Amino acid sequence: MDLCELAPLHVRAIAPYPPGKPISELAREMDLDESDIVKLASNENPLGASPRALAAIENVFMEIARYPDGNGYALKSALSERFGVAHNQIVLGNGSNDVLELVARAFLSAQSSAVYAQHAFAVYPLVTQATGARGIEAPAKNFSHDPKAMLEAISSDTRVLFIANPNNPTGTLLKPDELLALIERVPESVIVVLDEAYTEYLPEELRSDSIAWIKRFPNLVVTRTFSKAYGLAGLRVGYAIASALVADMLNRVRQPFNVNSLAQAAAIAAMEDQAFLDECLEINRKGMEQVTTGFKRLNLSYIPSYGNFVAFRIPSGNQGNASTIYQSLLRKGVIVRPVGNYGMPEYLRVSIGLEQENSIFLSALENVIQGAST
Ligand SMILES: *Cc1c(COP(=O)(O)O)cnc(C)c1O
Repeated sequence: MDLCELAPLHVRAIAPYPPGKPISELAREMDLDESDIVKLASNENPLGASPRALAAIENVFMEIARYPDGNGYALKSALSERFGVAHNQIVLGNGSNDVLELVARAFLSAQSSAVYAQHAFAVYPLVTQATGARGIEAPAKNFSHDPKAMLEAISSDTRVLFIANPNNPTGTLLKPDELLALIERVPESVIVVLDEAYTEYLPEELRSDSIAWIKRFPNLVVTRTFSKAYGLAGLRVGYAIASALVADMLNRVRQPFNVNSLAQAAAIAAMEDQAFLDECLEINRKGMEQVTTGFKRLNLSYIPSYGNFVAFRIPSGNQGNASTIYQSLLRKGVIVRPVGNYGMPEYLRVSIGLEQENSIFLSALENVIQGAST
């Protein structure tokens, strides 16, 4: 008997999420020293975590025999104060991916559909499919979400619309006025998930006042994470802010202890360390300049990005193709991210690292491109 057939068709149809290659795996495969490997594949914070977050972890370390606070009272208090929302408007997640899944589990079923943009974050189709709902992909425009196409894609059974702003892996952004115009036109019967995983990297004038919009749009769910600018990807902690009624639905399908105690403590401390956050943003700004200048020098086109990563194009031809260049970079100990699964087979995505890491990446890239064309 084929045990796979015990799973419903919609589960069998799921293509698993391909994560960035871990350093330890490449070290094993290529017999490299872990310290010689540069990983720029998962949009992680190259400066690591705030020292204050690390100290906070040490303080709760001795208490790990106890369950975490299932209501996340202290972290919700910090978020509540920062954003001016009530505790019952906050849903904590084991990473914001967890929160995205809660939205799907709470609002989707085999009788409904979800809309997301072409080239949008891969987790949207995944969590949609897992519920048996139909995923509707709205065509992108120049790799960016196209609000008009997204509105047209909404059908009578659509319950959720996902927006990544900025989007990963394209790095594209809907400006505050464009985003507001889109949300205004979505029917109230559709939950709008506004995924702002990279919002901290935006200059002030491009940042939407999204949390304030929830008062006007009770169907709006804003999700954010501590994985990127706050450097806590390994701990898994993110959150959603929504109207109290929507947050209540999300909490009903949430596991009682989904955010561990170390993550809760570290997230609070990370939020308090504005100086560290500012330093991370500055390093990212300079690194983005360094990497894109390198692309121009190598005559490679790229998609201008508002995040901590950038997608660049390797045209197929005598320079090899994106997949061979990816492999050649691995052999040199540099891990980037192929994005063929995003419908971008000619692109690779690189995360912005420290100056030294960016240099190693750029020289390895120059080297493999020249190697491939001779
Ligand atoms: C990285 C990322 C997330 C956050 O993932 P976590 O589960 O919080 O680590 C969410 N959305 C997008 C678009 C991302 O790139």
